[in-house]
Amino acid sequence: GKLKITPSSGGLATALYSFLENEKTTSDQFGSYYWIGVADIPKKKFERASSADQLVENNLVLHPIFLEGRCHDLFYNGFCNSVLWPLFHYFPSYVIYDQHFFDAYKTANNILADQIAELYSPGDVIWIHDYHFMLAPKLLRERLPNATIGFFLHVPFPSFELFRIQPKKWRLEILEGLLGADVVGFHTADYVHHFNESVFRMITQQKRYGLKPYERGVLVKEFPISIDYGKFQNASNQPVIKREVKKIRNRFGNCKLLLSVDRLDYTKAIINRLESFELFLSKNPDYKEKVTYLLLLVPTRDGVLKYRENKKEVEMLISRINGTYGLLSWTPIIYQYKSLDFKKLVTLYSAADIALVVPVRDGMNLVAKEYIASRSTLSGVLILSETAGCANELRDAILVNPNDRHEVAESILQALQQPMSEQRIRINKMQSHLKRYDIRRWATEFIQKLSTDLVEVINDHS
Ligand code: UDP
Repeated sequence: GKLKITPSSGGLATALYSFLENEKTTSDQFGSYYWIGVADIPKKKFERASSADQLVENNLVLHPIFLEGRCHDLFYNGFCNSVLWPLFHYFPSYVIYDQHFFDAYKTANNILADQIAELYSPGDVIWIHDYHFMLAPKLLRERLPNATIGFFLHVPFPSFELFRIQPKKWRLEILEGLLGADVVGFHTADYVHHFNESVFRMITQQKRYGLKPYERGVLVKEFPISIDYGKFQNASNQPVIKREVKKIRNRFGNCKLLLSVDRLDYTKAIINRLESFELFLSKNPDYKEKVTYLLLLVPTRDGVLKYRENKKEVEMLISRINGTYGLLSWTPIIYQYKSLDFKKLVTLYSAADIALVVPVRDGMNLVAKEYIASRSTLSGVLILSETAGCANELRDAILVNPNDRHEVAESILQALQQPMSEQRIRINKMQSHLKRYDIRRWATEFIQKLSTDLVEVINDHS
């Protein structure tokens, strides 16, 4: 009967929360912030359980919006996670085309725009996040023509050929929706290129066929999101974490620890990596009892059928591998299906010899960056998928194609054999990059571009 508010474990929440925490401590002009988002429980239930002061935390006001009846399901599980998520992550065969989904998406975006317009005061900066609200910039521009509006997409923007798979009306409304912003940000230059191509092919080229041309300038640019580097580095140096790490290390003795941390999402390709690990075990019997795979999977979107199916398949595979290769004295895969808090996560990052981060597609992937930031000992190896957004920055990881089980299996062997001197060089280089380009820089650069006179910015980038 009582509401308990906890931050969610996605990359977006983690990144923005770090940014706000930092603003609070470093900025002498720390104003008020509204965090407006969809609450996934009905309004009545929410109001019965919560009190207004629960929704204010220092200068951050949480402002939930409610989608009644079936709207929430059709919006969130429907258009967001059964159309946009699979399509933008290159799983077109998982897309369910249902006009009701899109209608609910429009309703949700309109409700958001109404709420923002109601709370807005002149001079406010509006920053809209992620694929759930791609129509909102235009809807807001209609309500607040002079507002400063930024949009950031936390997932990949797919190539034109994939984007165009959607019905014409949907894809056009999405592009026009985004172009309502002053600044549209993506994680990588590739996503910027894909977006620009779609705009060119579907809007600019069509002008001559009578579509209304754009009159405002829009800056489209990459802003690779990052992490609160200092927070991970400091935590990994704390005595309490070091003690926990030691306990884990003692428990596993000389056995090397391979770690994965992911939401249980099909884009993270858990099946591929389990099969790769199995292949590694079958090809390298000498490593029996010498390596253990810690697999932390975070529950996510269990309202979507594909996720429930994926979970079953993953658990069967873990069971088969442990059954086939396990011994009384050794379980090859230790599996947990839960979300961990920050301290436990840093403990795992600090304890693991190798991180295996091999999603088949990922907008950025913060876990890879967090692992590197937590390696205060300067040892450790990151095996990283070349199709994760962060592969552009973390070039000193062992980069693999996640679809190639043989390559991933070989990379595990390579990581186990990587000399300490090489680990040190690679980790050092990646840490230097992350230290320079952390979450503050990401947020500050975006807000700066948003606050600069757009004509100036566009001239700069012309
Ligand atoms: N995370 C967490 N608890 C967990 C597992 C993960 O808080 O038990 C956080 C993790 O620290 C990271 C985020 O969830 O910041 C996952 O972000 P990522 O970009 O790797 O993937 P996403 O979930 O956004 O696809």
